[in-house]
Amino acid sequence: MHYLVLTTGSCGNCYIISDDENTIIIDDGVTYKKLSEKMMDHGIAMESVRAMFLTHLHPDHSKGVGVFQRKTGTEVYMSDIAWARNMTVIQHQRIEQDLVRQYSFGDEVSVPGYSITPFRTYHDSEGSAGYLIRSDAGPSFFIMTDTGMVPEGALELADSADVMFIESNYDDRMLDEGPYPAHLKNRIKGIYGHLSNSEAVEFASKVAHRGESVYFVHVSENNNDTGIIRSLAYSKIPSGIFCRVCERGEMLEGFIDG
Ligand SMILES: [Zn+2]
Ligand SMILES: [Zn+2]
Repeated sequence: MHYLVLTTGSCGNCYIISDDENTIIIDDGVTYKKLSEKMMDHGIAMESVRAMFLTHLHPDHSKGVGVFQRKTGTEVYMSDIAWARNMTVIQHQRIEQDLVRQYSFGDEVSVPGYSITPFRTYHDSEGSAGYLIRSDAGPSFFIMTDTGMVPEGALELADSADVMFIESNYDDRMLDEGPYPAHLKNRIKGIYGHLSNSEAVEFASKVAHRGESVYFVHVSENNNDTGIIRSLAYSKIPSGIFCRVCERGEMLEGFIDG
């Protein structure tokens, strides 16, 4: 199997998981042109896309969805709460409502090749979600981004994942001493904001086991430094675990047996 962090950060977020036959996409904060070109570059056929899952409806995660639906007819999953509370955003982003599929937290969603467990995250976009994705091919993937704190149950879900994508948005000191106005600092630090480096690394240190991979994603351009995350991860996470910090906008490809 292979997977792509197509891009991550405030400039756009998009992840792809594929066993060649079946592909799913998590978030689409990029243009159709970029997404389709990168898929082609990496040998992932558009016809293999079975579904798209959204973490939430901030434009850096969902601005490409409407065009993608119109080009491909792909069904897009979001929580019933996200659907009910964000209708203005859904209309504004021109998301095709007849291609939206809703789930409730606690449900498990099956699409060809995968079963997906959504879980609630804490963010200022109602109904926001993270996902544990189990593939029929074997490997499982965990994604937790845009959350002000670690949700209940996330540790247990991540514990069974082989590959983890975890938000590591800001360094506490850089945010405190940085240029943002107080209300923005408070939003980022708040329980409906983003996850800090220390929270992300502590989480990873609890759930990652030997041979597994952790990607630190959604790194702030202004309130963070990838070197800080690297040294924190190096000091807290046991050896034998592959750790990678994704630079803002960087594209990464990974492979896993299955
Ligand atoms: Zn967000
Ligand atoms: Zn975001």
